[in-house]
Amino acid sequence: MSSKIKPLKYHEKLNFSPSLENTDSLSLKKEYQLFINGRFQKPLSNKYFASINPANENKIAMVAQANEKDVDLAVKAARNSYESHWSKTPPKERAKYIYRIARIIQEKAKELAILETLDGGKPIRESRDIDIPLAAAHFFYYAGWADKLDYAFPNRNPKPLGVVGQIIPWNFPLMMAAWKIAPALATGNTVVLKPAESTSLTALKLAEIIQEADLPDGVVNIITGPGSTGEMIVNHPDIDKIAFTGSTEVGKTIMRSISSTSKKSTMELGGKAANIIFEDAPLDQAVEGVINGIYFNQGHVCCAGSRLFVQESVYELILRKLKDRMQSLVVGDPLDKNTDIGAINSKQQLSTINNYIDIGKKEGADIFQLSCDLPAKGYWCPPTLFTNVSQSHRIAKEEIFGPVLAVQTFRTTEEVITKANNTPFGLSAGVWTDKGSKVFNLTSKLRAGVIWANTYNKFDPTSPFGGYKESGHGREGGLHGLSPYLNIE
Ligand code: NAD
Ligand code: MN
Repeated sequence: MSSKIKPLKYHEKLNFSPSLENTDSLSLKKEYQLFINGRFQKPLSNKYFASINPANENKIAMVAQANEKDVDLAVKAARNSYESHWSKTPPKERAKYIYRIARIIQEKAKELAILETLDGGKPIRESRDIDIPLAAAHFFYYAGWADKLDYAFPNRNPKPLGVVGQIIPWNFPLMMAAWKIAPALATGNTVVLKPAESTSLTALKLAEIIQEADLPDGVVNIITGPGSTGEMIVNHPDIDKIAFTGSTEVGKTIMRSISSTSKKSTMELGGKAANIIFEDAPLDQAVEGVINGIYFNQGHVCCAGSRLFVQESVYELILRKLKDRMQSLVVGDPLDKNTDIGAINSKQQLSTINNYIDIGKKEGADIFQLSCDLPAKGYWCPPTLFTNVSQSHRIAKEEIFGPVLAVQTFRTTEEVITKANNTPFGLSAGVWTDKGSKVFNLTSKLRAGVIWANTYNKFDPTSPFGGYKESGHGREGGLHGLSPYLNIE
């Protein structure tokens, strides 16, 4: 059968001249301090760590490493501002500050996008068009809720929790900070937030924005450091809630640590999403969605469509189109506006991904990779797909968090539902079909928090996001994202 299908060549790789974003306008500091009680303060630890650019391994800046005493100062500042004024600030006033933060993010959008790309390795097109606009949109959206909580929860007397500890990952640094801080402020809580150690810079830029917005001292504290700093936040006795986004493994550790306390939690953890193509789907659109689903942001996406299920009748055709489209992807300098695939976020993450690629080969799956030149320095992984994959393969079961797709086939709807649900995760899924009835049938049976139909990786602040099973609990975004920050009678 395959011999009858001609190469499609509907996507040729075009040789654009480089179009590099200019970094001259960035005002980078050599050393970044902790943001505690409205001021930038040197860490009591006296320790700093380097934040590097994963695209060339150059050091960008040194970042303060908070120790137990620093964490305690941040929590005390948050508690003090909560008790003395923030919990008493009229909701309408809270909203004004949040709107202000949103507007300043918009004003500084270009600078933030460049910094996000420099520090994290994602293509500038994504930072510019997705991360930063969505971060601003999140603040705008939750600003709107601040004075409407009694309408959101009628007759239930919603009250803030107090001081919340928030710990975020490196894949959408500013956007994740926005997802955490905006609803917490709208509901009247104060915050101690820790970004991931490889991507602290946009969170610290956000601290400057918060200063500029004149948010009262101590309402938001941003402290930096590795996992051990995160642990200190989790275990601090004066924290009322932990909001965590990161790996399932660390999420479980945090759940164990807080199990004997009254701390509340929301957990946004890992995923292994099924992206399902039926034979009646708009195939070119589906291929584009698969590419976006797994290669977007180098696959550093918890809801990445990392398992592709294709109905047998269109398998050969889809595979051909997919490989063709992969060949047209541009891997390279994240600051180049033509780049589709940027750098892997860290050396450690690259070795995790490469390890899984080796596992896939050893398990007997067939590998296909984009053939392209990779830069000599930095951390790179070409878009990769595996065929001849079975349900028991580790590459089909475990989260890789990189640009690696495992392709399987199916014949019937029942079969693909069983296969798609055969995972400990349950964050997201995608369905591609021409039939609305099929979409509704699948969305009611797939065990995933977010299901996209004929699209993929679309985010909006009004829409709740979160998982089932080992993908975590609680929702962020939308009306649903308010209640985890409130005591409701
Ligand atoms: P990670 O769990 O290693 O780290 C996440 C954050 O937790 C970092 O800030 C880290 O410093 C901190 N941390 C590490 N150990 C800790 C501990 N013992 N106590 C407290 N904090 C600790 O995850 P990562 O490698 O940064 O991110 C990748 C993972 O995040 C993937 O598994 C991905 O699926 C998940 N993720 C999930 C979502 C979601 O919304 N569900 C979004 C993005 C990423
Ligand atoms: Mn970095």
